Amino acid sequence: MSQRCDVLVVGGGPVGACAAQALAADGASVTLIEKEAEVCPPVCGAHANCGLLVPSDVTPLAAPGALGQGLRWMLDSASPFYIAPRPSGALLRWLWMYRSAATPARARAAAPVLHALHAASVALHDALASDGGERWLFHHDGLVQAYEAPAAMDQAARGAEAARELGVRADVLGPADVRARFPGLRGELAGALYFADDGHMDPALFTRAMADKAMAAGAEVRRGTEAIALEPAAAGAVTVVTTRGDLVADQVVLAAGAWTPALAKGLGLALPVEPAKGYSVDVDRPADFPDLPLYLGDAHCVLTPLGDALRLGSTLELSGWDMTIRRQRVAGLRRAAQRVMGIPDDGPLRQIWRGPRPLTPDGLPVVGRVPRRERVILATGHCMLGLSLGPITGKLVAELAGGRAPSLDLAPLSPSRFA
Ligand SMILES: Cc1cc2nc3c(=O)[nH]c(=O)nc-3n(C[C@H](O)[C@H](O)[C@H](O)COP(=O)(O)OP(=O)(O)OC[C@H]3O[C@@H](n4cnc5c(N)ncnc54)[C@H](O)[C@@H]3O)c2cc1C
Repeated sequence: MSQRCDVLVVGGGPVGACAAQALAADGASVTLIEKEAEVCPPVCGAHANCGLLVPSDVTPLAAPGALGQGLRWMLDSASPFYIAPRPSGALLRWLWMYRSAATPARARAAAPVLHALHAASVALHDALASDGGERWLFHHDGLVQAYEAPAAMDQAARGAEAARELGVRADVLGPADVRARFPGLRGELAGALYFADDGHMDPALFTRAMADKAMAAGAEVRRGTEAIALEPAAAGAVTVVTTRGDLVADQVVLAAGAWTPALAKGLGLALPVEPAKGYSVDVDRPADFPDLPLYLGDAHCVLTPLGDALRLGSTLELSGWDMTIRRQRVAGLRRAAQRVMGIPDDGPLRQIWRGPRPLTPDGLPVVGRVPRRERVILATGHCMLGLSLGPITGKLVAELAGGRAPSLDLAPLSPSRFA
């Protein structure tokens, strides 16, 4: 006989774990399933992402000019943004929608939506971290974005001006201010921005801690269990067919990151979420690297201190499900860290990781009920922000599942917007 629960969450990344935590805290009987047997295998959810909490990031990926830059970079597989040319209807549809979303008017409309999500999520991150945040190395002390080229610094300063209008705190730092914070800094800088409300944490430890909190509140977590399909069950419930047998739930939350479209397709929904491969490389943290993340804006390389490790990360590759590790990308990250911070690019290497970001064409997540399949809630498409926006997404999912009015307007996040 199939097992039954109130809500079944598919996907144990930061979004699914936060949803399970919020649902269980609400008193629902929750089961979370994750296809991987371990939390941190080399390829599953973005468990080794850059670990940034970035409420300052209110510019959607679909910003004016971004596609043109991306297309210019297309021929250079070592560039920070790379689209592997390939015949794919889904990719063409995605690029077409991206192009339509990358207008000044739509980017201006998306920024306050992201800002509202971030503001609510940061408050929830703080509240969650007040009970055990040291377990996931939570720091809420800001982030420095540094630029080597004056033109790049000017452009970033203009972006910060626009973000300030929404209430984002952004201070301009001179090279000497940056050097005071990062004594190991080498080479010339044009300047930097300091975002005081940003933070960082270990994403794998955070995700695990949210799953632990969910279990402490009564949720069941089943690893090594992959959802294959969703089918109607008696009394309007949903059967989730898995590799470990059928599970029946009153409601299902699809939080399978970039894998979600495959499950949504079976529900008649063509979800334009593309897997956008990104890399991270863990090296030894220099003794003088502070507890403050540094983003090298020109090189698009993040340096996040995590205990005694330093994580170098980023790059964005639209190569479908090709998860090949391109060594020139790893080398690019290490070269940037050597040039700016003097971290030897042939020094000890702890881990190379790559994983797929769930990329929507308009840069906004998808949170809402599936049209005509009202018992299924989508929570995906968080692009480069799934760790930052996990807690607010969990809260919105719990509100929807509990039949309450969502605390934020879900219209801009609706799955129907791509119809
Ligand atoms: C290099 C890199 C750096 C990043 N840095 C940051 C950052 O600093 N800050 C930030 O906020 N975001 C960052 N991101 C983005 C962030 O990692 C994603 O937005 C986030 O992981 C999305 O969370 P998710 O839970 O929706 O999906 P995922 O993290 O992808 O998790 C989905 C989970 O679902 C599981 N799953 C898939 N299919 C099934 C199935 N059928 N049945 C059961 N389980 C299934 C997968 O195994 C996976 O564990 C980064 C991403 C990358 C790649």
